[in-house]
This record gives sequence, C-alpha cells and structure tokens, in this order.
Amino acid sequence: MRERTPGTRQQIKETVYPAEKPVTAFASLIDQERPVQLLTAVLSGGNLPHAFLFTGLEGIGKKTAALAFAMSCNCMELELFPHHAPAAGIRPPSIDPCGRCRSCKKIISGHHPDIILIEPAGDMIKVDQIRALSDRLALKPYEAAKRVIIIRDAHKFNTEAGNTLLKTLEEPPEHTLFILTALQASDMLPTIVSRCQQVRFNPISRKFLATYVERHYPETAAQADVIASMARGSLTCADSMAQTRWMERRNWIIREMEAFPSYSIMECLAFAETLSKHKDWVPAAFEIMKNWLRDIAVYHARPEKIINRDLMDQIEAAARRMTSDSLTFKFKAIEQAERDMKSNANLRLGLDALIIMLSKGN
Ligand SMILES: [Zn+2]
Repeated sequence: MRERTPGTRQQIKETVYPAEKPVTAFASLIDQERPVQLLTAVLSGGNLPHAFLFTGLEGIGKKTAALAFAMSCNCMELELFPHHAPAAGIRPPSIDPCGRCRSCKKIISGHHPDIILIEPAGDMIKVDQIRALSDRLALKPYEAAKRVIIIRDAHKFNTEAGNTLLKTLEEPPEHTLFILTALQASDMLPTIVSRCQQVRFNPISRKFLATYVERHYPETAAQADVIASMARGSLTCADSMAQTRWMERRNWIIREMEAFPSYSIMECLAFAETLSKHKDWVPAAFEIMKNWLRDIAVYHARPEKIINRDLMDQIEAAARRMTSDSLTFKFKAIEQAERDMKSNANLRLGLDALIIMLSKGN
C-alpha cells in the first residue's frame, strides 16, 4: 500500500459524487420492483459480486439505486458488512439504509471519501480518469466497509479506458464494489459486461409518472398525463418538462403548426428564425411536431396511443382534415431536418425549408 498524499485527498473530493440532488433509499425508486427485489436479495444474502451493471433508460433511477446500495452496504445501523466478525451471524430484517448514521449522512451529502463517482468528461470516459481511479484503488478504503465505485454511462468508455478498467475488474481490489450504469449492455465491451452482474431497470409506466408529476408539480397537474406520455418512461425527463414550462412551448409549437397552411412565406421564415434562436430547444420542438402528426395519424385506428390527450378536439378536427399522404410528407420532412441538424448542416436554412414544407397542403 502506498502512502496517502495531501494531493490524493483533493482528488477524491473532486471525484466523490456531488450532492446535486437529495439521495434517498430504495423506497424512493419508482416502479422498479424487480431490480429492487434483486438488489435487496443480494444484500440479504451477504455475497456481493465484484461488479454490477445497471442498464436501462436515462432517468429511471439507476444512480439512485447505486447510491442506496452504497448506503446499505455501509450503514452503521445495519452493519451488513461489519469490520469485525459478526457476533451472532444473523442478518438484520431490513436492508434499507437508515439515512441517519454518519456513513449514510456522508453519502447523502456527497462527502463520503470511499463512494467515488466517475462520469464521462465531455463525450467519453477517458483513460486518465480510469488511471486516476486505479491509483486511488491501490490505497485501502478510508473508512467504508465496502468502497463503492459508481461509473455512469459506462457505454462511453474509449477503448483504452475500457481495457484499463477491465484489468481492474479482472483483479478487483478488496472491499470494493463497482456499479456501472449504461443504457444497454450491447453498447459496451463484452469483456466488461461478462465481469458484471447485470440488473435491468424498466421504463417507468405512464400511470406512475403521471401520479408523480401530479404530486410534485401541482401547478402542472392538469397536464400530468401528457407529460407522462412524452417523458417515455423517464423520471428525469418528466422532471425537466414540468420545470421548464414545457407545456407552454408545446402549445406554442402546435398552435403554429396548425397555422402554417395559412402563413405567407415571410411568416414561415419569421417562425423559423424565432425557433433557430433557441437552438437547444430545436430537438424537443421536432419531437413535439412528430408526436402531433402521429397523434393525428392514429386518431381513428389507435386512439389509446394518443400522447396529446388534452387536445383531443383539435386532433379529431385535424384527423378529419388531413390526408395520410400529407401527414407522411410532413413527418418525413421533420425527420430530414433532424438528420440535417445532426450532421451540422446550417440550422437556419434547414428550418426555413422545413417550415415551408410544413405549410404545404392542410
Ligand atoms: Zn445508516
């Protein structure tokens, strides 16, 4: 074991999970019964794997579960992995962390020196980050019974970083648990996946998301069902929509789409200009446009699939008015604009062309 240096402490501070959100235990995970059951069974059994891989959509609780797991492993009231030999060898009846002890509080506040978070720097997790982690792992844990390394977006390793991590996973340090999170295992190095016990997290159901939005954002309760549909199973997405006056923007986009056929070319270009000034928001605008057209298209055959449920009268009127050829033409125009934007084509020109196409027909 090498000596700890003053610099190491600073490095740890930077890598420890930042407390941007309050952390709660397993009970706070919404609609994730199966993964919670699996994790609690592992904790109750007392035999931890060296590494977990949590997979599933963005914003469904993978990080919350990782932190809850880290809390349970180290909770001083539970003492699941005591530093000394357990007196009776009987597991406690619950594995939910207390949230009150010194260890739990440190993890909640993001100040536990042995709970380490690695996230992509820019688009990738780089080899320097994994080398710095390896240096850290050469030391014993400061105080934790189980040191927990949480690696977010583990599908974003560059090859060198992935191979460096693999070496660590092949010879895992003592008292250390890795929790990797990723959208899906197929995006990752198979050699890493095979070293991990995979836990799949589900998209959160629309019903749960709607209830969540109603409870946490009473001011948007009337639109909870629409937000729940648009969030596509992601709690983070639902939060962001409720917080950013998303509904107002949606109403604006749909109002404009309905008005495009009556617009002059100059009016179309004026709208394109307004939208181009909010570049961050253009992908969401495309999504709203496509969902609007999709709602009109499914109105007769699959009304249960409609997303903008609060606008049924408008959807019905549009479904009577618009032909399927016109809907397909407009949908394809939006998809083309999306592709152009991703390939860094001129945004303003792309939007000009798109809005003019959307104004054609009815
Ligand atoms: Zn505790």
